[in-house]
Amino acid sequence: MAIERTLSMVKPDVVGKNMIGKIYQRFEAAGLQIVAARMMRLSRPEAERFYAVHRHKPFYRSLVEFMTCGPIMAQVLEGEDAIRKNREVMGATNPDDAEPGTIRADFATNVEQNAVHGSDAPETAVQEIAFFFSNEQICERRAADSRA
Ligand code: ATP
Ligand code: MG
Repeated sequence: MAIERTLSMVKPDVVGKNMIGKIYQRFEAAGLQIVAARMMRLSRPEAERFYAVHRHKPFYRSLVEFMTCGPIMAQVLEGEDAIRKNREVMGATNPDDAEPGTIRADFATNVEQNAVHGSDAPETAVQEIAFFFSNEQICERRAADSRA
């Protein structure tokens, strides 16, 4: 399996509950490394653009409302099979369907306020990473980790 990068967001519900660190622990326990991170409050146009694929869905307005209600943490996760592994650690979109021990089973409030976002494919990972980070803002850790 190849080393991949994926875009993750800790959504405003978890940031509001001051539980960012508990989510980061899950990533690290799964062998995913954070190679870039930033906190920001998405503007309405930014949230609309990020979730444009859902613009015709009935929940789109409400989703944009939620994603702009407070700051998010965006991070790039790197590791073996990172895109699929992150989705596994996140659990199903609806916490009622999420496997026990997944982030969404443990932290999501409902299908909308579901704690985290993760890219779903290599193409979306590239696009979503570029949405938040320039190449210079992503830190190479494998080479620099010789003392870790
Ligand atoms: P994400 O893209 O945030 O990682 P996902 O890929 O599991 O989540 P999507 O189908 O892409 O799920 O939906 C994007 C987001 O829209 C969900 O994470 C959730 O916040 C919201 N959402 C999805 N389905 C519903 C729904 N039926 N009602 C309300 N909100 C929803
Ligand atoms: Mg999605």
